Amino acid sequence: MEEESDAEEQGFQFFECSFLEFIRYPEKKKAWLEKFYKNVVEDFKKSSRNLLETYFTLDDLRAAIKKHVSSDLNTLANSLTEQITIALCWNKMGHLKNLASCGNVRLSDFKAWAMEMQVEESTIAAAYDERQLFVHVCEGLKYPSSRERLGREPKTYEELFQVCQEESYSGNCQLSQIEKYAEDEWRALYTEAHKPLVMPISPHQVIEAAQARSIQVTEESFLQVYRYDKKLKLVRNACRIPDCPHYLILHRNFNQHISVERERSNFPHALHLMSHDLSDQSVEAVVQEVATCSQAGRQKRRKPSPIEPSSLDPLCDEIQVLLQEYKKDSGEV
Ligand SMILES: [Zn+2]
Ligand SMILES: [Zn+2]
Repeated sequence: MEEESDAEEQGFQFFECSFLEFIRYPEKKKAWLEKFYKNVVEDFKKSSRNLLETYFTLDDLRAAIKKHVSSDLNTLANSLTEQITIALCWNKMGHLKNLASCGNVRLSDFKAWAMEMQVEESTIAAAYDERQLFVHVCEGLKYPSSRERLGREPKTYEELFQVCQEESYSGNCQLSQIEKYAEDEWRALYTEAHKPLVMPISPHQVIEAAQARSIQVTEESFLQVYRYDKKLKLVRNACRIPDCPHYLILHRNFNQHISVERERSNFPHALHLMSHDLSDQSVEAVVQEVATCSQAGRQKRRKPSPIEPSSLDPLCDEIQVLLQEYKKDSGEV
């Protein structure tokens, strides 16, 4: 039997698959899932003292979350599945019909015809058994061609019921949502810790700060341990923010650590280079130059689009300090 409108497009609409109260109160379902996600994240956080400290990059965080939640997601799947009712949707079933040589036959017409033909009541009852119809509808949707459908051993009601359960549950609970909550927290910690502008630092200061954190580095090994930008006086292969738990600690994927701030549309590209080159000029001059991003595209990287100069206002005091630092050096060098 085929449905009046295109059956394939409508797929599983034949089934009333409802989160019992959730379907009537979608906001309840949303709140319930949100609470679940947050609980998972809270539980995940117990495994580390501080997300930023434990996870150097967002990728590290995501990998750990994935590992942590796989069992939680199974629990969620099971508890959601228990709350889903799956049954044939009789409204839709009433529209089933088959256009054949004997006319346009609906499911109900067929029953009337069978009774008229004095088919035994028990046979009719068996044909209209809900579980039996459920199997027919499932198989019919999956294998629209009758040749294909009849040529294979049909699945049992129980098997098909389980398939429907899985279909109805999928999409309701998402790893991505849990990741999002954890990522938001990590980003907040990162942003807070990395608020200050990176200030120029001498090799000697780096060594002192690193040794204070039990990092193995000496005057002799300094250049083997750190990639150091002599001109801008910046470490290039470890976090330069004293408040960050990863300050001066070596990580292979340092660029991923700082990539978060580069996603910001107002990230001041080449700020240190500009402050160095324009150290005898005003903060406004540096801001203007950085805002046009004219220097950032120099190193074969994709040229970022210009930014609104006023979006750098909060940095002005620190840029002033930066200019003074670089000005001091220009006398020495
Ligand atoms: Zn950092
Ligand atoms: Zn670290």
